[in-house]
Amino acid sequence: MVSGEIALRRELIETARHAEDIGLVIYSQGNFSLKLPHSGSILITPTGIPYRRLEPDDLVVLDLDGNKLSGKYEPSSETPVHLLAYQQMPDIGGAVHIEPPYINALAAVNLNPPPILGNFVYLFGGKGLAMVESIRSGNAAFARATMEAMQDHFGVIWKNHGIFCVGSSLELAYRRSWAAEQAAKVYYLSRALGKCDPEMISGPVQEEMIDMARNWGWI
Ligand SMILES: [Zn+2]
Repeated sequence: MVSGEIALRRELIETARHAEDIGLVIYSQGNFSLKLPHSGSILITPTGIPYRRLEPDDLVVLDLDGNKLSGKYEPSSETPVHLLAYQQMPDIGGAVHIEPPYINALAAVNLNPPPILGNFVYLFGGKGLAMVESIRSGNAAFARATMEAMQDHFGVIWKNHGIFCVGSSLELAYRRSWAAEQAAKVYYLSRALGKCDPEMISGPVQEEMIDMARNWGWI
């Protein structure tokens, strides 16, 4: 293992555990991956192993075609979509799938998190998330449907399941997934207050925010 890889393995596990700590996944739900900068290989969480018990050596390394290079476990069941994302978006360095309750609640009634929080606008460039209908995941057809929906977005809602977000780093992909759930939660709560149309961030202000996010290199 080259120097630096152990830190990236720890970062992947810490990200997954943090997602569990704040209720974005449960047990071994979801999946997390990053591109190893020295080799271009993909480091991904294994399937079915609870994040609490994951050790750095338990992670799986794959080449971009999905061949296993190392790891004693099988890679995540959503490996096809992670690999297709890295194949089609060579600039991304991380990808995250979580199963957050507020986004899932909105999506179940065909709603998508709106531009209700600045952080959401900054991290998604005002484009929000794309959405794909509920179809069986974990296969090549589902991976293709996800990436067809992705276009120039940074995240896709999988209806009745969760979201899949990408970023130039694992950290950015994770921040996106977290910000999307935060926007969904605030939108849900503001609607629960009884007013039908919560105020959103206006178009011109969003444009300013998007320019700022570009200057920061977030989008
Ligand atoms: Zn899932």
